[in-house]
Amino acid sequence: MTASRKDQFDTIVVGGGPIGQAAAYSLSRRGARTLLLEQFNFGNQLGSSAGVSRQFRIPYPERYMVKLVKQSIPFWDELQLRTPVPLMKKVGTLWFGDPSVHSTEGNIGQAEKALKAENVPYTSLTAKDIEREYHFRDLPSTYTGLFQADGASIDLKATIQTLLDWNRASPLVTLHDEAPVTEIRWRDGAFRVRTPLGTFAGKKLVLTPGPFANSVFGLLGFRVAATYWNMASAFYKKTRPDIQYPTWFVFQNPVGANGNQFYGFPEVDWNYPGYIRVASDFVMQPLDSPAGRTLVPNPKELAFTAQWVRDHMTGLEPVPQFTSTCLVALSKLANKELIVDFAPDHVPHHEDIVVYATGWAGKFVPLLGHILSDLALDGKTPFDISHFQMGRVYFHKAGKEKSA
Ligand SMILES: Cc1cc2nc3c(=O)[nH]c(=O)nc-3n(C[C@H](O)[C@H](O)[C@H](O)COP(=O)(O)OP(=O)(O)OC[C@H]3O[C@@H](n4cnc5c(N)ncnc54)[C@H](O)[C@@H]3O)c2cc1C
Repeated sequence: MTASRKDQFDTIVVGGGPIGQAAAYSLSRRGARTLLLEQFNFGNQLGSSAGVSRQFRIPYPERYMVKLVKQSIPFWDELQLRTPVPLMKKVGTLWFGDPSVHSTEGNIGQAEKALKAENVPYTSLTAKDIEREYHFRDLPSTYTGLFQADGASIDLKATIQTLLDWNRASPLVTLHDEAPVTEIRWRDGAFRVRTPLGTFAGKKLVLTPGPFANSVFGLLGFRVAATYWNMASAFYKKTRPDIQYPTWFVFQNPVGANGNQFYGFPEVDWNYPGYIRVASDFVMQPLDSPAGRTLVPNPKELAFTAQWVRDHMTGLEPVPQFTSTCLVALSKLANKELIVDFAPDHVPHHEDIVVYATGWAGKFVPLLGHILSDLALDGKTPFDISHFQMGRVYFHKAGKEKSA
């Protein structure tokens, strides 16, 4: 494995989804010669960024998460300056449901406390308020909710395109798609990263492989303990064009095989105008490995969602259309948060390998790119990532963790 001068970089980013693109964007803006390698094509629909829209929301049950989302806003504003295409449609976030439920997203009361502690304005709602103002119907009278006005639908496709356009234009960034990384070795003072296009040398590595995390981490001798959700999604035709929904999430206890957690989006002009997206926030069968995924959505998950649309939403035809799947790796952390850390100690030169693995990161794209570039170039970041530096718990020597 040899690398010519033109194949030598300050940093090599492995994984060309939005987080890898955002890392390359931030690295190049700090003057680092950066190579970004993607195994498929840019904008592929095979990882965690399938589909087009993601929720931007400030409510979280943990105060540090609320703070981090707030801190992401200036980074979104800065990225927005690079494109005339709006990256978000601000419609607010509605969280509602059974106040006693603690779901994978958290709990409504805890989120209210965290919002208060961070001085984020929101409105508390009764079931009647939710029905009157947000077009839901036949909710149990015990349901409560909160509305936070800064929530938005993110145009993820436009976000990726904006980052990609910047990176393509930057003299400091080299981009290769159709370039799966198949081997990583350390030799003569640099990481040697092999792809079918050739072998490249980099002083630092930033690993952002999405749900394929373990196939990349395995090249360095470690794995992350993760579970994989192949999530079903569908669009529902609006029968009342005058109705606009906010981004929303409903907290409910599972009923039998029905996980009973759903979330939805407003109508947006970039994604099937005339329809809105409603999806289940559960999977009936988590996977042990990305290899177990299929591109066909689970029909039962779609049916549970359609039934909920029929029973509790207005102005929609309750027939799922334009269905799709999206694969996400989730850590085994309580609320399935992000893992942002260096490679574990047993990996040679681990302090030069920055890793992002698992979690719901759409809302953090530009901020996370910035944090990863801080870690790669400075070895630290001023942002509080202490809750995500969980490698010591969730990274294992390859072969030691059965279900990851
Ligand atoms: C259904 C669903 C709904 C979601 N909703 C939200 C939401 O509402 N709000 C929110 O904040 N987040 C949400 N998320 C999470 C968010 O979409 C992801 O966190 C984000 O898109 C991850 O981007 P990424 O760049 O890390 O991963 P990906 O987009 O998966 O990119 C990783 C890339 O690495 C490449 N790669 C892997 N291995 C190699 C290799 N060996 N060599 C080269 N390249 C490689 C892959 O091909 C892939 O393109 C959702 C996720 C899903 C699935």
